[in-house]
Amino acid sequence: MNPNASDSESIIVDGQEMIVPTQSAWGQIKLNSEFRGRQIGGAKIVMKWVEELLPSNKIKVGLVILPKFDSWYPYFLLKLQDHIQRVQLRTAVCNNCNWSGIAAHAHDVDIYIGAQQSNLLFKAGTSYPDIPCPNCKGKLPGPVQWIIK
Ligand SMILES: [Zn+2]
Repeated sequence: MNPNASDSESIIVDGQEMIVPTQSAWGQIKLNSEFRGRQIGGAKIVMKWVEELLPSNKIKVGLVILPKFDSWYPYFLLKLQDHIQRVQLRTAVCNNCNWSGIAAHAHDVDIYIGAQQSNLLFKAGTSYPDIPCPNCKGKLPGPVQWIIK
């Protein structure tokens, strides 16, 4: 029996296999930024989003060891109606009414690293419209295709 089987699930996103640690596994990862003895790339930022978003179940984090990398490369995954969308997360602030929240967009080539047909995925990702501030309907600075929180 695989001793690691219960700390994660394996999913395929755009033809790429990812390991998705469970909530309790993230509790362990938090202690030293390691999963299965390897560091999580960009761990500080990843853990910040994990803390804020994982309890809501809106975002999953997939981990992959890319060729030539020693650490886990993290992917933020947003479940849409018909597929799992790779996203970049950011804090969005409305200049108009000062609303702030966590936003996601798919305008970042780095989120498609390792995917099959990454160019097409990037194009599809950028085709989602930007959405306005949920409070005042004003235009938010920067790409905001989904509001996560
Ligand atoms: Zn606003």
